[in-house]
Amino acid sequence: MKIINPATEEVIREVQEDTKQTLTAKFSLLKQAQPDWNSIPLPKRIEVLKKFSALLERDIEQLANTLTSEVGKPLQQSRNEINGARTRIKWLTENAARFLSDEKMAEDGSMSEWISYEPLGVVCNISAWNYPYLVGVNVFVPALIAGNAVLYKPSEYATLTGLSIENLLREAGVPSNVFQVGIGGKDTGEVLLGLPFNGYFFTGSYKTGKYIYEKVSAKMVPCQCELGGKDPVYIADDISDIKSVAAGTADGAFYNNGQSCCAVERIYVHEKIYDQYVDEFAKEVKSWKVGEPKEDGVYIGPLTRKDQLAVVDRQVGEAVQGGAKVLTGGKRIERKGYYFEPTVLVNVNHKMSVMREESFGPIIGIMKVKNDQEAIALMNDTEYGLTSSVYSSSEERAKKILSNIDSGTGYWNCCDRVSAAVPWSGRKNSGIGATLSHAGIRAFTKPKAYHLRKP
Ligand code: NAD
Repeated sequence: MKIINPATEEVIREVQEDTKQTLTAKFSLLKQAQPDWNSIPLPKRIEVLKKFSALLERDIEQLANTLTSEVGKPLQQSRNEINGARTRIKWLTENAARFLSDEKMAEDGSMSEWISYEPLGVVCNISAWNYPYLVGVNVFVPALIAGNAVLYKPSEYATLTGLSIENLLREAGVPSNVFQVGIGGKDTGEVLLGLPFNGYFFTGSYKTGKYIYEKVSAKMVPCQCELGGKDPVYIADDISDIKSVAAGTADGAFYNNGQSCCAVERIYVHEKIYDQYVDEFAKEVKSWKVGEPKEDGVYIGPLTRKDQLAVVDRQVGEAVQGGAKVLTGGKRIERKGYYFEPTVLVNVNHKMSVMREESFGPIIGIMKVKNDQEAIALMNDTEYGLTSSVYSSSEERAKKILSNIDSGTGYWNCCDRVSAAVPWSGRKNSGIGATLSHAGIRAFTKPKAYHLRKP
């Protein structure tokens, strides 16, 4: 398999893909080794993952360079991602024992009732490329801490990062037969779906997630899917600083070139402040440096996947045909690499794909609304349900709006953020199950009820 740098279109490495034989052999090794790993006391497993985090810190420059070379995100954003992963590992390692230890639930005379949290066994993690450290850590860190063995399939667009993760986990003390990497794309994923894993944890698109969920269902094992989004933001008329809200939401829409599952994908603005907001938003977008992602100060690099250029191109074209106005950007950049101009569209409506389908690229539609009711109706008018955000001076107003929106996360005066302390979960086509928080630690376990009567 060829690893291509999306900024230059050059092949940076060739790697050997796994086959059905090698993946079956890896699965057998994991199956054999898992009970021994689970018999290691929990505090020791936690220590190993803390060491992994320290190694990420030690190697951050080299790891960030590799990540930028294969996915094209600006170097500083690669560093941010690795640091973000370390923050998540810190929370997970500090809180895992709290949620994995045996719990006494009731006691009545000589009878006591307990729950113990047993690992699922050998779990399969099929992952995405847009934040390989973050979405990987969400799964393999709590899975390993809980006593599981893990087969991690990085996206074919983040293979070198997947191999780096494997090396560092080994160095940290995870036995090689407890964590294995499966290299390849769709075909490798298909083989994994055919093996008897005890749980599947998928991060990626709705289309693939639905397919995997259906295929795995016959196995009667847990299958969690963290999928795409069409995340809305509503800017109410009572915000105090339009300029900073415009800059913050523009960052939420365009960070990592819009290739975040929780990127701002639709913006609704109260009519009283619409003109001023749009003006500030466009100014902010025009101020960014676009270019080679390893160059200082670059905020917009290339898209990771060449085929996504056609998706954003089509969405912009359809919007313009339907009457949208391009305030800035609007087309591919004529240079080597998969570059698209950061694009702001106004006069958009919900008949346009840019307001309905996940764009996963540097384009955004901004729409004027009359009041909170109209904003709520439009925000809910989607097949996705990952995050939603409201900017307002009033917490009460924001919470009232958010409580009426069917998404797994609600933000007040912020957007495009994830915290390890609370669940990360999508509703509707954005997925099923949760990672992070207590829910995302226990997701890798099966509870056993003990009814214990003293003689
Ligand atoms: P994708 O669905 O194309 O691929 C995801 C993974 O599935 C890859 O590892 C791929 O090789 C594998 N795969 C593809 N076909 C398969 C098959 N038939 N059987 C088994 N495995 C298969 O998604 P992507 O392009 O890697 O990621 C982008 C998508 O992921 C976006 O929709 C984004 O919103 C979503 N995402 C969601 C979250 C979240 O937390 N909700 C986080 C990151 C990305």
